[in-house]
Amino acid sequence: MADPTPTSSSNAAAPPLPKLPKLLPGQKALVTGANSGIGKAVVLAMAEAGADVAVNYVVGDDPAQEVVAAAQAFGVKAKAYKADVSDEGQVKAMYAAMVADFGTIDVLVANAGLQRDAAIDDMTLAQWNTVIQVNLTGQFLCAREAIREFKRRGINPAVSRSAGKIICMSSVHQQIPWAGHVNYASSKGGILMLMQSLAQECAPHRIRINSIAPGAIRTPINTAAWDTPAAYDKLMGLVPYGRIGEPDDIGHVAVWLASDHSDYVVGATLFVDGGMTLYPGFATNG
Ligand code: NAD
Repeated sequence: MADPTPTSSSNAAAPPLPKLPKLLPGQKALVTGANSGIGKAVVLAMAEAGADVAVNYVVGDDPAQEVVAAAQAFGVKAKAYKADVSDEGQVKAMYAAMVADFGTIDVLVANAGLQRDAAIDDMTLAQWNTVIQVNLTGQFLCAREAIREFKRRGINPAVSRSAGKIICMSSVHQQIPWAGHVNYASSKGGILMLMQSLAQECAPHRIRINSIAPGAIRTPINTAAWDTPAAYDKLMGLVPYGRIGEPDDIGHVAVWLASDHSDYVVGATLFVDGGMTLYPGFATNG
């Protein structure tokens, strides 16, 4: 019998996940940074689960339209909205347009993010500010507008038990310090308290706010960590489960977190990381 233990030397894509049931019929979801990587996978998973989807992007009209077309193939409504999530005016205009087009919003996935890496003594204020403004302020601005609409509309029991759901895209680096990336790690550490404080404030309004903290996911943001066999093998030293995460791994979790199946989950961070936060370096140090 063949050894069933997978090896970590192959960076081939994991087999596709099972088909998603229709967990989000009638829900309207906005996903930011959705013409690439994790955001794109979240849009497609939500569309497969029956949600209408608003696809936010800041650059790349063609990829955004490709995501819209792929979502529409699931038989749902989809439309792209160009807006910089760190710009208050553009965020407000995006929400106004989305509510005009879709009627309301039930789910926000605040996913847009970027990195501007440098050692601390080389890091410019511009690199610091860009990452904080997009990754942290951008989630504040998008969450605030979503909460305003959730409160205005209240609960529609035909759609969901809650008045609205927000999923903040965090990172294992809300917990794991990351040398050479202090701006990024600080932005994600900030997301932890942004998410928990918003969750505490908004839960009495039956608004559920949670985070997903991905580990290493195969997207353009971290190509250097997985696109050569040597880089992939090094990465696997940090991942007990022995494979890189695929964007779908996050998309399917986001569907569950947006659905009423997770109705009592409030203020939680779901680590979707193949065990990266289990301190794998200690596995052989007992
Ligand atoms: P990605 O680069 O493929 O996607 C990021 C998206 O955000 C892109 O579409 C980009 O255009 C968009 N974006 C950047 N600035 C924006 C702005 N000002 N306004 C609107 N959109 C903007 O990378 P990804 O891996 O899919 O990252 C998505 C999220 O997941 C990020 O928040 C990232 O920090 C987080 N994350 C990723 C990983 C990973 O391993 N890939 C791990 C942990 C957390």
